[in-house]
This record gives sequence, C-alpha cells and structure tokens, in this order.
Amino acid sequence: MRYRSTSRQCPEVSFREAALRGLAEDGGLYVPAETPMLERSFFERLPQLSLPELCVEAARPYLGGEIADDTLQQLVAEAMNFPIPLVSLSPQLHLLELFHGPTLAFKDFGARFMARVMGHFVRESSRGLTVLVATSGDTGSAVAHGFLGVPGIRVLVLYPSGRVSEAQERQFTTLGENITALEVEGAFDDCQRLAKQAFADAELNEKLFLTSANSINIARLVPQTFYYFAALAQLGPAEPAIVISVPSGNCGNLTAGLMAKRVGLPVSQFIAATNINDVVPEFLRSGTFHPRPSQQTLSNAMDVGNPSNFARLADLYENDIAALRRDLWGCGFTDDETLRAMQSVHERFGYLADPHTAVGILGFETFLRQHNAPYQGIVLATAHPAKFADAVSRATGVAPPLPERLAACLAKPKQSRLLANNFEELKDFLLGLG
Ligand SMILES: *Cc1c(COP(=O)(O)O)cnc(C)c1O
Repeated sequence: MRYRSTSRQCPEVSFREAALRGLAEDGGLYVPAETPMLERSFFERLPQLSLPELCVEAARPYLGGEIADDTLQQLVAEAMNFPIPLVSLSPQLHLLELFHGPTLAFKDFGARFMARVMGHFVRESSRGLTVLVATSGDTGSAVAHGFLGVPGIRVLVLYPSGRVSEAQERQFTTLGENITALEVEGAFDDCQRLAKQAFADAELNEKLFLTSANSINIARLVPQTFYYFAALAQLGPAEPAIVISVPSGNCGNLTAGLMAKRVGLPVSQFIAATNINDVVPEFLRSGTFHPRPSQQTLSNAMDVGNPSNFARLADLYENDIAALRRDLWGCGFTDDETLRAMQSVHERFGYLADPHTAVGILGFETFLRQHNAPYQGIVLATAHPAKFADAVSRATGVAPPLPERLAACLAKPKQSRLLANNFEELKDFLLGLG
C-alpha cells in the first residue's frame, strides 16, 4: 500500500516513510492511496479469530508487503496485550471498553502499535530514534508507556513544571528505562515551542534522529480500526442494525471507524458525539467547517476546536457532504447533560461511565430518539472512570476504585530533569545525549 497526502502536493510514500515522517512534506496528513481490501471470508471467520489473529488480518492490507507476517504477529501481540471487552448494559446498548491498557484510555492502542512499528523500522535502519513529545498531561503518558522498553528508541517528554496533575505526572516520570521526563519552567505552550524549535534545528537533526510521534501519525490510526472488528466479533447477531457512537475530539477514532466501514464493517451509521466543542456536528448540520478556539469541559480530552483528522475525514468522502451524512450523524452535549447522563447510567445499569463515555452514550440515546427504527448501539468507552474520579463522584456519589497498575505508578518516586524555559539549555541537553 502506498500513502498519499490529503493535500496532494507531494509524492506518495511507503508505510514506513509515512510512519517515520508523521506529517507529509506539504503539511497534509497521510492516507492510504487506494481503498484497502480485506479477505472476503474475514467477516465470516471473525467470531472464531483470536484478538491477535484478527489484528494481523486487519493490519495486512495497510502494511502488507512491508512487514512480514511473523513480525507483524509479534508486533501485534506485544501492542495489544490487554482485553477489549464488549459490555452489554441492555439488549440495545453495548459498551466497548477500550481503557484496559497501561494509561487507562483508548490512546494506548495507537501509541503502543505506533511505537512498535517505529521500533521495527529503526532496527532495520540501525539508527536510533529520539521521540520528543510536549504534553499538557495525557499525551505524554500514552506515548511514554507506548514506547517503554522498545529497543532503539528514546523518549523525551517535555512538560510544564507544576501544571500537570500529580497523577498525570507520575505516569511519565516514574518509568525509567528509555523514558526521560524534562520538566520545563514554563507553560505547556513553552514546551510546545521548545519542541518545535528542536525539530527545526539542523544540528540537532543531524546528530539525533528526532521525531514527534504525534497523533496525526498514520501508524496511530491503523490500529484504531482493529477494535471495531473486535466489537463485531463479540456482538453476536447484527440485528437490528448497528450504530456506533464515538466520543470525539480530534476525530482520530471516528476516522478509523469510517475507514473500517469502508473496508466492509457491517455498520449502519456512526455517531460523532462531542461536548460543546461541536465543530463536527455543526459541520454535518450546516455544511461549513468552522474551526474555533476550544472551550474547557469535563470531557477535556475532547476539548478540540480544530480537529486534526478533519482533513482525513473530508478526504475519505471526497468532500461529498451528502455521502458523509449517510454514514455519519453528530450531536454535541453540555457538561450538565454529561453529568446527568453519568448519574442516569449509574442508576439504570449500575455502571460508572467517565465523562467521555457518557457523551458517547448521550450520542446514541439522542440518535435513537430522533430515528424511528430499531437499532442497537455500540458506544466506545474511551477512558476508565478512575481517570476522571472527581467528575464520576460528583455525578454518582461513588468513588471509582483505582486500578492496581495506576496505584503502583503513583507509589513510585518521580524522576525528572528541571530545565529553564530556554532553547539553548534544551539543545545542550539533547546534544549531550550523543
Ligand atoms: C483522545 C480522547 C478522545 C477523543 O478521541 P479523538 O480520536 O481525538 O477524537 C475521547 N476520549 C478520551 C478519553 C480521549 O483520551
């Protein structure tokens, strides 16, 4: 499979090059140059496949030819080493729990797979890779955990001193091995600026093979198509028709779902469920895309005013809004609605949903009310309730228990290196790494 830029101003590249580059030269995002084909019998065999088998088959059309099957198998087994249970709250409402990975959120899938794909490609090239990531909290932990222990890759996490929560900080400052936390005396924007300066610095790029491993990387998107198939494999009869509600911010998860639909996932519609940062639902209604500054909400991982994957979404439908509307419906919800949904889900089903998952459930239930036909809904449960414990206790009066692996992390001592808010100091440090 070749990959082209959504801006169509630069040559097509291999999967390897797309993964190592991240962003295309012309500033566009990489997408498959053709529609990938799954084997015909894949959907019949789906219920019998193990999770690693399923992932290998779903990955092959995207990476086929570039990564041998046995390597791919090993890579997938290492990346997808936690369960993806489908929990049925009622015969109509199923939750796909994507939060059983190390950082308790679905971003673990993309980060772990991308890390191993990059690890594989740098081992082939015998040149080490340095991943530099600026974080305001969650991205840092997903990327750090994703790359932890991957040979040939060093990760540097730049974060604003005193401005991330203690729980978030512990998740990337206690790992050791190939992960180094750099605590910057400044704000998140300073960290981002320092990282950008480093990527643009010729001397650094010559000495270190620097990459951002950021969220627009195609190697993060491909594995997010896998769990849609895993959901179907667990669902049983696909009657009545299935809709999938995706709590959305940058729309990576949603784009991956629509890519899966394109290769044959038997789903009637997708739902873009957002908080008040509802640029995508608004686009579906009005037909115009109006990015705007984001507003803070309880479902803060979806506080996005200019979704980075919008270009991929538009590209997938060749800017045909009527075609997109056939596959996608959208709706945004306030924090009050989210809290009430968390409370109601707890009362009706005894289930603790985090605010992002609650937005997804609201999306499905609102869709049902507005559409006069029987449907069953799969809602992506994107974060563990313990990750948003304050909001969960506020809505339900119940404090979600902290999973063992997060508790273990919080008990370890923090290790970080303090840096002044100054590029020269960062550069000296990076050059000193050799
Ligand atoms: C990142 C994130 C989202 C939004 O996912 P996108 O792919 O950016 O749309 C939803 N929920 C949680 C918990 C997240 O961390």
